[in-house]
Amino acid sequence: MNTLPPRIPAARTPLVPRTDAPLPCAGAPELFHAPDGERRDSDDARARIFAARVLCASCPIQAGCRETSYSVHDNGIWAGETIGARKAARRSTALAAAA
Ligand code: SF4
Repeated sequence: MNTLPPRIPAARTPLVPRTDAPLPCAGAPELFHAPDGERRDSDDARARIFAARVLCASCPIQAGCRETSYSVHDNGIWAGETIGARKAARRSTALAAAA
């Protein structure tokens, strides 16, 4: 059986690395996208993102999930990174390539 994070749209699943191990995010998908009305600077947002990062830290496909996340432009937490962290990483990579 190939397990995929349930929050990832089906059209994107070919990009996601496969594993037979249970994925931590499958058990708590609500942690990986902000609920409607959540303020990014709120304690609730910080707690949610921290909890997602803890789950991602134990994930068997974290490296592949991170690599995939740079090409799919999803707003949620991927591999423990927020969209802001991914944008910063893409900028750094682009700057390094231009130097
Ligand atoms: S690294 Fe995080 S978001 Fe990615 S598959 Fe694993 S638990 Fe899910």
